[in-house]
Amino acid sequence: MDEVKVGAETEAWCTSCKLMKDHIIVAMSGTKPAKVECIGCGKQHLYRPRPPGAAKPRTGRSHAVKVRTPQPADLDARIASKEARTYTPSEKYVIDDVVTHPTFGKGLVIALPAHQKMEVAFSSGRKLLVHERGGVREGNLAPPTNRPHEFPPETQLATDAPIASADGTGETPGGDGVG
Ligand SMILES: [Zn+2]
Repeated sequence: MDEVKVGAETEAWCTSCKLMKDHIIVAMSGTKPAKVECIGCGKQHLYRPRPPGAAKPRTGRSHAVKVRTPQPADLDARIASKEARTYTPSEKYVIDDVVTHPTFGKGLVIALPAHQKMEVAFSSGRKLLVHERGGVREGNLAPPTNRPHEFPPETQLATDAPIASADGTGETPGGDGVG
């Protein structure tokens, strides 16, 4: 592979020839070519890695993309192969657990993105659910009082909650809590 540097050749869109042509890099911006000179016509122009009409990898939808864990291809088989536990926010779940959710049906726990959060793949799609809610924990103040014996309203966040970013959660992935 050619090194990307001033003086190196790179294929780029020539705004004059209207073709993908070899260009000499004449200026860099960071690690990418900023300005190139067309070998065909000698014109210098901004570096364009692809023709102007070519679709960019991403479409205009801005915040729709939030999925980073792929839906398991064999989701149904994996769900069927395990005994499902009824989803309860106070229970603790681990990756590969199968849960039965009152709304979404059976799902497979595929990620634990943050404390008390788990990502579950249902056949209808992935949902972020709370778990391990009831457990008394350091820094967790008084337990909820007067709660009806139902799911707390927080479970509603299962529907459309954005997947929490992994930044700053402070949790060590895979820590199984010894002792
Ligand atoms: Zn050209």
